[in-house]
Amino acid sequence: MQNLKQNTDQITEQDEKRIGFGDATVHELKTLLTAIIVSAELLADELQMYQKSMSLRLTQNIIRNAHSLDEKLTNFSEMAGLLAGDFSFQPEQIEIEPVIHSVTAQLYPIVQSKKQSLAVELPPSLPPVKAHRQYLEQILLNLLTNASKFTPEGGKITVSASQNDKSLVIEVADNGMGIPADKQELIFQPYYQVNGGRGSGLGLAITKSLVELHGGKVWLKSVAGQGSHFFFSLPL
Ligand code: ADP
Repeated sequence: MQNLKQNTDQITEQDEKRIGFGDATVHELKTLLTAIIVSAELLADELQMYQKSMSLRLTQNIIRNAHSLDEKLTNFSEMAGLLAGDFSFQPEQIEIEPVIHSVTAQLYPIVQSKKQSLAVELPPSLPPVKAHRQYLEQILLNLLTNASKFTPEGGKITVSASQNDKSLVIEVADNGMGIPADKQELIFQPYYQVNGGRGSGLGLAITKSLVELHGGKVWLKSVAGQGSHFFFSLPL
């Protein structure tokens, strides 16, 4: 985050033009992509009705790739904004429980399509935290999307939270493929992916920056083949 802050002071007029152009381009591409996704989803519904299994599989392939392109575009523009210091941080007092439920609800269709379970385990009461609502949602969504993505069908994902005297700690756990010990530091670097993959490799770099913006930390415990536990703290 230190780098991001330093960069903020060094933005030139030319950078601003570049960011504006980048945003407009991403917006344009995402609009077209949304039309492709919606059409392909309608086509998939129709093919399912007529039990055209081969065509259905190909269409599902189009949908999956279009979604991953969409995710990449979102991550690229977010990362560009963060690197350029082009963001506004407006923390407010937030109850964490409804935020967790709203994000898990967003993820539910993805989890359901992989027959995974998604449990939320919270203590009876949690103190409010000072956070930027949209960024907090983004942090949770990134961690939960990864938990589902790197966990096979039928796997288990759990979100939980606990409080110590200085901070609120939120945990996103899965029983998926896990991350080898020697790769655990590297995954927070932009573009690093353990096995290559469809994503952008930017999700955790963005997550780390956003958590640090709140004055918190992000860390993990994982054993390859046995799942991952990602934690982040928010100071109280
Ligand atoms: P992306 O998900 O787009 O690849 P991320 O920055 O979110 O990028 O994650 C970087 C890499 O960290 C992933 O490619 C994957 O190898 C690994 N990773 C992240 N979350 C998990 C997880 N829950 N289980 C296993 N591996 C993970």
